[in-house]
Amino acid sequence: MNRAAFLRSSTTCLLALLIAASALEAAITPPPDDGKLRIIAFGAHPDDCELQAGGTAALWAAKGHHVLFVSVSNGDIGHWREAGGPLARRRKGEVDKAHKILGIKGEILDIHDGEVLPTLENRRMITRLIREWKADIVLAHRPNDYHPDHRYTGVLVQDAAYMVTVPHFCPDVPHLTKNPAFFYYPDRFQKPNPFDPDVMVSVDSVMEKKLDALAIMESQFYEGGANGSADLMPGDPEKQKARHKEVRDGFARRNQSIATRFRTQLGEWYPAGEAEKVKHAEGFELCEYGAQPNKAELKRLFPFFE
Ligand SMILES: [Zn+2]
Repeated sequence: MNRAAFLRSSTTCLLALLIAASALEAAITPPPDDGKLRIIAFGAHPDDCELQAGGTAALWAAKGHHVLFVSVSNGDIGHWREAGGPLARRRKGEVDKAHKILGIKGEILDIHDGEVLPTLENRRMITRLIREWKADIVLAHRPNDYHPDHRYTGVLVQDAAYMVTVPHFCPDVPHLTKNPAFFYYPDRFQKPNPFDPDVMVSVDSVMEKKLDALAIMESQFYEGGANGSADLMPGDPEKQKARHKEVRDGFARRNQSIATRFRTQLGEWYPAGEAEKVKHAEGFELCEYGAQPNKAELKRLFPFFE
């Protein structure tokens, strides 16, 4: 083989390897093109999407829409006693069971917990995932959330919001010709601006399902996750029962407080008599990047208000 031919064949090999490697990075099975909505939610840890959007995901899934929850880190430092590979595996087992209850799919990226960074490599990975899912809707943290992994997950998803449409960025995965709508999860941080929902969803009808899914993640909630301790895990079966109830009630209160905080905005989506009665809600704020749906289009994306 002459030098030019050798260079050509090596370049072809290298390209094939690179494409194979990038495909491995984002190995998800996209849903069928059946006209249903395609939702991809990003959370920094294996429990964030479930906490923030578990109810709405169950509502979408019940209508046959396709939901994928992606944890950007593997959660391998999220416990006061356990860490590393065994904890990452345990948490994957937990979210897999939770997703089954919610009727959705899940994916965990192999990035260490506490080490999510807005790198070019990660921007590519998130871009490819959104493209492969051919998402209509993308959910993520706001980039001013308290945890560095939450913040950088928010930044990474924002960074992908335009790039998913650019053909020559990650040309190994076809770009999206229609930009998805990007939404943020609620938080309580006020600076530089407080969370202000554009869509409010009552999750009353699926709240028990959501609580069942969250209760499965014992490493995080019953045992207290990174800031827990052995004190949370009583040996006495009666006290264990009380602890389980305490965790479940705490989650219910979380969605109750979202309903209370954004009662006025609930009134924009439900008739007055109904909005007042909503006990548990989830809310989403539209990101300024990506598609900018009007109210009719929002109702198509969140088809829960007929
Ligand atoms: Zn988290």
